[in-house]
Amino acid sequence: MALDFAKHLMQWYNTNKRHLPWRLTNDPYAVWVSEIILQQTRVDQGMVYYQRFMKAWPNVSALAKASEDDVLKLWQGLGYYSRARNMHATAKLIVQNFNGSFPSDYNTIKSLKGIGSYTAAAIASIAFGQTFPAVDGNVQRVLSRVFGVLEAVDGKTGKKQIDDLSWQHIDNEDPGNYNQAVMEFGALQCLPANPQCGQCIFRESCYALLNGLTASLPRKQKKPTQKIRYFNYIWMRWQSGNQSWVALDKRLHNDIWKGLYEFPMIETEKPVHFDEITLLPAFQQLVQNNRFNIRAQSAPVTHQLTHQKIIAKFFHLNFETPLDLMKENKLSLINQSEIGNYPIPRLIDRYLQQNEF
Ligand code: SF4
Repeated sequence: MALDFAKHLMQWYNTNKRHLPWRLTNDPYAVWVSEIILQQTRVDQGMVYYQRFMKAWPNVSALAKASEDDVLKLWQGLGYYSRARNMHATAKLIVQNFNGSFPSDYNTIKSLKGIGSYTAAAIASIAFGQTFPAVDGNVQRVLSRVFGVLEAVDGKTGKKQIDDLSWQHIDNEDPGNYNQAVMEFGALQCLPANPQCGQCIFRESCYALLNGLTASLPRKQKKPTQKIRYFNYIWMRWQSGNQSWVALDKRLHNDIWKGLYEFPMIETEKPVHFDEITLLPAFQQLVQNNRFNIRAQSAPVTHQLTHQKIIAKFFHLNFETPLDLMKENKLSLINQSEIGNYPIPRLIDRYLQQNEF
């Protein structure tokens, strides 16, 4: 089995692989873009973003020259925005330190911002033909089931067992295609909830299948508890003739959605009504002594992230005098019709699309 695993897998891959645009090239930039986009993203969704990204910035130099707002705008809807910010920073660094050429050394690739051992191995193997196993969730699942890794794959012992198996089985002649083959096998055949064991090339030797463990492998350590956060958006609007102006705030702190724009937001520890919000110092700082009337308040809007759930409310306020508020709070005043030009969280984008204002 030890010798045959890679051979059988590569045969399966040659017949069953999906024809995806990033598989047509060995360009390290294209491999990097595809690998970053595909983290936490389905292939069909990732494909659209990959094509848009490569069209907008076909190489490292082009990406380095882009503005962060433009990069985040194109990324809007994919989530995990630190991926886009890191790519942008890394592109600039590659231009500055490596003359615009993607480095080929594994450790140098891994030292770049936003690139961990998985992505570095994918780039080194696919673009440069170097033997480094890329281990993602698909690979953990396939190896733990086929070879019977019973320890939690995100724990120290289980992780080491998976790493050892990865090094033991990687195809030294064609490590790039081997890495893609294991991942593809996990994505198409050895599925998390419904593995296709009946037609599987490993059905006669797979440890999980032979021992009735397909549903319980890979084992994982206890999941971290999910955090619930309450975001109260204060939609501050001014009317001037038939134009509406709104306040936008750029998220600058180290938190989700850094670099994106949103309405001024007050986070609370529990759900609050509008009359409770108005008593908060943050609200008073926001509105100063300016007169406003409340136009509407939304029902709670839920937005699920991997480790947090955001429950948002939108409070729509009309103001009479905008300018001093903007100055005091360092907000941007923009024409309401132009919100779509700014990178905004999907939560806000959806709210705008589902409601008329
Ligand atoms: S037999 Fe089933 S569990 Fe084992 S590798 Fe094949 S699909 Fe996965």
